Amino acid sequence: SNADASLTATLPASTKCGVRINFFSNIDFKEELLGLKETGSEGIGLFRSENLFIDGTKVPGESEQYHYYREMSETVAPQPFVVRLFDIGGDKLIYSPIREPNPNLGWRGIRILIDVPEILENQLRAVIRANALGNINILIPMITSLDEIMTICAMVDRLHAEVIEQTGVAGEKPELGAMIEVPAAVEIIDEITKCVDFISLGTNDLTQYTLAVDRNNVIVQDLFEKFHPAIIRQLHRVIATAQKNHCRVALCGDMGSDPLALPFLIGCGLRKFSVVSADIANLKRFVSRYSVAETEALALECIKLDSAQKIKACLETFQAEH
Ligand code: PEP
Ligand code: MG
Repeated sequence: SNADASLTATLPASTKCGVRINFFSNIDFKEELLGLKETGSEGIGLFRSENLFIDGTKVPGESEQYHYYREMSETVAPQPFVVRLFDIGGDKLIYSPIREPNPNLGWRGIRILIDVPEILENQLRAVIRANALGNINILIPMITSLDEIMTICAMVDRLHAEVIEQTGVAGEKPELGAMIEVPAAVEIIDEITKCVDFISLGTNDLTQYTLAVDRNNVIVQDLFEKFHPAIIRQLHRVIATAQKNHCRVALCGDMGSDPLALPFLIGCGLRKFSVVSADIANLKRFVSRYSVAETEALALECIKLDSAQKIKACLETFQAEH
């Protein structure tokens, strides 16, 4: 029955051998938080804050953002709430009046935030003030260099001190994380995972930028392949490096919703998934079928294969046998 299904969904998910796997929600609007607990979600793994732009152009003010984040934080507390800084530009929202020939390779995400400090500072102040309960984490989109991370880190330190000075109160300083969604970030993942509190794998953009395939171009949609060996090997490497450096790692791209990818990702060492809430119950059902040792063997097999076709066949066989 429906009641049984939702009861199972709200139980924590563990592998056959008892390892906990956490599922969080990708959220576009705070209204989606209604009934969140019933979906089995353990918090917000990705809030796409750029949705606060009215008509896609009007920049939301500090106070408006503060109230919005504060409400979201209180609704999910004590569970975590990851706010991704505005990922504007690219295929998302047109902030700039300038027409770019290749917007996905242009002024987007962290690049706009660093160039327009008013937008960034307002958002950071709002987040810092909203973090009274201490469950907010900041996620930076489109990271391609350590310098970008250092810039945000220094700004968070400064604004946190300022907020305390001006208001006498401020919650804990929010933890800082980087989206890993550009191949350059994968190449320097050792350094990145030594300087942030957590990373989140954005497989949608990582696939787009690694394969040079526009994620929204129907002409090349057949080439948009998350099981390409290049993606599979990147994911394995990033997760292993994060673990080595004791950096928390999650995945928030659409790949996390695919049950075929699930045992591979667990086998890489991933324990935190952020997906659309409606997919959580289904994913939890699959988790209990696998032991970590089996998934680790599967992951090692997958990273040796030389085509997406072979990788998918391997994952399909694994699924059929479990
Ligand atoms: C991603 O790129 O995988 C991601 C989660 O972010 P978005 O889809 O918002 O670009
Ligand atoms: Mg992205």
